[in-house]
Order: sequence, then structure tokens, then C-alpha cells
Amino acid sequence: MFELKKGALYVVATPIGNLGDLSARAREVLAGADLICAEDTRHTRQMLNALGLDRPLLALHEHNESERVAQVLAQLQSGKTLALVSDAGTPLISDPGYRLVRELRAAGITVSPIPGPCAAIAALSVAGLASDRFCFEGFPPHKASARRERLNALAGETRTLVFYESAHRIEECLADMRAAFGDGREAVLAREITKLFETVLDGTLASIADAVAADANQRKGEFVLIVSGAPENEDAALREGRRLYAKLSEVMKPSQAAKLAAELSGAPRKALYGGE
Ligand code: SAM
Repeated sequence: MFELKKGALYVVATPIGNLGDLSARAREVLAGADLICAEDTRHTRQMLNALGLDRPLLALHEHNESERVAQVLAQLQSGKTLALVSDAGTPLISDPGYRLVRELRAAGITVSPIPGPCAAIAALSVAGLASDRFCFEGFPPHKASARRERLNALAGETRTLVFYESAHRIEECLADMRAAFGDGREAVLAREITKLFETVLDGTLASIADAVAADANQRKGEFVLIVSGAPENEDAALREGRRLYAKLSEVMKPSQAAKLAAELSGAPRKALYGGE
């Protein structure tokens, strides 16, 4: 057993579906912490029960994070050892904790990571898409117009793109990605990682969207969507054509949008619409 530091906050990664993925060190920290800050105390209580642990919990979520900072800081300054967990995976990664960690570091508190599961990294590790350089985009905006704008802005990004998405929006998100990145862009959809119905679909954005449309089971659960980056040597006209096509297809029929985008950019119409 390692000795927990007094007055430190441990940021503890927890499983994303399989309790067996909790590390031995994570267990030790949770067992020894004076107080555990948790995104949802009921959820964390269930996990602690399953581990046979009983520790005091403090709710810390996106709606009360700022108000909690002073309270947490006071506990740490009085020599208590605290842990921060989210509902699943690594705190701060599309989860609460950023404001707390920032403020505690500014106050000179030791903030120490207990690394472990993270859905984005787990998906990337099995996707078979370039992983030497990637950018984590988290959840695309919920509103269609904002989402399309964000995706259009990413159309020329050459690094592998990693997104989180929920079951409610997976189909519309895939449709918007097809418009922004092209039907033929390579992609991987990792669903329910480490759980009973874990599925990793690979192919193009078009083939993955078709597979999701054809099977209701593929629309259930939690998703990481990984999209390969734009080719490094993609011709500037094609890149501009794709950008225009994605924008225009929001307001006109795809065939018309492709015709106009091709005229304006000089890219071949076929490359913009109906596959690569
Ligand atoms: N902090 C977490 C992490 O480290 O991965 C992510 C939290 S975020 C609120 C939840 C999102 O992560 C889900 O909507 C889904 O996109 C992704 N996710 C979490 N668990 C997953 C799993 N088991 N399989 C696939 N995606 C998962």
C-alpha cells in the first residue's frame, strides 16, 4: 500500500463499464481518502459498495463545481486527503473537474493523477487509424447548426479526430460528418467498450452510417467515433470544394450544392458528392 499524501487531491480514473478495470492504486486511494468528490454520489456509492468500501462523498458536478472549490480547498488545507472521480473514466475528460484542478493548483495544492480508463484512448488503441497525432474533440455541439459549423471547420484537419457521441445523436452526427468530411473518409465507431455488447465497426463514414441505420442495436449505448484526418496532400481546390459543399448542402439539395461548390472551387463535382 502506498502512503497517501496529506493535503493532496488525487484525480482517480474509474472503469468505463467493467469494474475489473479499476487499478489497484485507484482502489487504495478510494479506500484511504478522507473525502471523495464525485460527479454523482449515488453512482459512486454503488461502485464503492461493489468494491466493499465506505467513504464520505461530496457531490461535485458541472452545476456546483465553482461553489465547491472553497470548501474543497479548506479541507485540503486542513490536511485532509481527497479524491476526485467522475461517473466513468478519467475526470476532466468531457467530465467535471477542470475548474477545481485549476484553482487548487493556483493555490499550491498537490494534485496527483491516478491514471486508468478513458474511452477516447481505449477506442484509439483499437481503431487502427493513425494514432501518432490526434485531436480530441469531445462531444460535437448538440444543436445541428453549431455542430455542422464545428465539423466544417475540421474538414481540413490532418490529425485523426476523436469524438464522443450519445445514442440520441449518433445518426445525425454521422450524417453531418459525411457532409463535412466526405462519404469515403475512413472511420471507426467504438460502442460499449469493455461492456457486454462491445462493438468496433470500421470502414468509411458512409459504410458505418449504413451499418448503424440498418441495425437498431448499433444505435444503443455509448460511442466513441474516430475519423481519420484529411489527407496531408489533399489538393487545395478539393479542400475548398468540400468546405463549400458542406456549407451549401445545409441550404440546398446535395446535388445542387455539389454542382455549385465544384464551380466555385474548381474541385471535381464527383469528388464532392456520391463518394470519393
Ligand atoms: N471521462 C470519460 C472518459 O474518460 O472516457 C468520458 C465521460 S463523457 C461524459 C461520456 C462519453 O464517453 C459517452 O457519451 C461516450 O461518448 C464515451 N464513453 C464512455 N464510456 C464508454 C464506453 N464504455 N464505450 C464507448 N464510449 C464510451
